[in-house]
Amino acid sequence: MMAKDIDWSSLGFGYIKTDYRYTRAWKDGKWDEGGLTDKAEVTISECAGVLQYAQTGFEGLKVYRTKDGHVVAFRPDLNADRLQSTCRRLIMPEISKEDFLKALDELIKANIDYVPPFGSGATLYVRPFIYGSGPVIGVKPAPEYEFRMFCTPVGPYFKGGVKPIKLLLSDYDRAAPHGTGNIKAGLNYAMSIYAGEKAHSLGYNENMYLDSGTRTYVEETGGANFLFVTKDNKVVTPKSDTILPSITRRSLMIVAKDYLGLEVEERPVRFDEVKDFVECGLCGTAAVISPVGLVHTKDGDIKFASGMEEMGPVISKLRETLTGIQMGEIEAPEGWIHRIC
Ligand SMILES: *Cc1c(COP(=O)(O)O)cnc(C)c1O
Repeated sequence: MMAKDIDWSSLGFGYIKTDYRYTRAWKDGKWDEGGLTDKAEVTISECAGVLQYAQTGFEGLKVYRTKDGHVVAFRPDLNADRLQSTCRRLIMPEISKEDFLKALDELIKANIDYVPPFGSGATLYVRPFIYGSGPVIGVKPAPEYEFRMFCTPVGPYFKGGVKPIKLLLSDYDRAAPHGTGNIKAGLNYAMSIYAGEKAHSLGYNENMYLDSGTRTYVEETGGANFLFVTKDNKVVTPKSDTILPSITRRSLMIVAKDYLGLEVEERPVRFDEVKDFVECGLCGTAAVISPVGLVHTKDGDIKFASGMEEMGPVISKLRETLTGIQMGEIEAPEGWIHRIC
């Protein structure tokens, strides 16, 4: 599809091939120069580490136009950090923060016509990833890797207004204690697809996962962290070593405290406390915050006071403030907005 032919308002969340992607190969113990290519396909060994043993990690971030016409990314340095921690855990070579940001800038400048206009609600979603491309038949780190970064325009997450979603308390687990829950690894998603499809077939948008060790504490969904709001307007987020540290959630906690003057708490959250919260939201790059209306359990539904029709007031204010910061309408904390051009 040509950039000029895109109807930004009707775009969904799907892959659209853009003109260029960034690629860099790791071989003989070092990264090559790296650069852009127009070739969207990859050719690798049938025995590649990624194909046999899922040795791959990824990131996701958004690039968009601000009110004053700049093209920016939101806190991409944190995506670079997180990709490094994923690489360390999966024994893959790391990309420096500097090189990550350089790749991002080059990629976006080369695909500049795919950055949606300000106010369209659409954004350019960027997918960086590193995977084992060299052959391994015994279980060990692959001898060669590729770092790749592509982008694809995506539509507004909520079309026609934000509606609260329904969650299913899952019978399945997402992350084991001392496992890989805290890194952005493809393997965490591969094994969540079954539970995700099951929730969808029962009419729920997402699964709520509990800690696998004790099934007592709330962890997260397949791809977003939780924020809860107490009766007295305190913002609470679960703390656990097996939760993926969402950049959106970490940013929202700062917004709650520094911009809205709310009390914030990051602590273990017992599942039996969930019924006492008045608002619940899911945080991630794609939606910023999705309000949650209810959580279905075998013992009945937990319904939040904010209901199934609209967002609660605190979640709504948090969302408004963070999107205002992202779009350049509200002053951002130092270093949050990375200007590409
Ligand atoms: C990517 C991801 C999130 C959201 O993180 P953001 O940095 O806010 O996009 C939350 N949970 C999981 C499991 C994820 O993979």
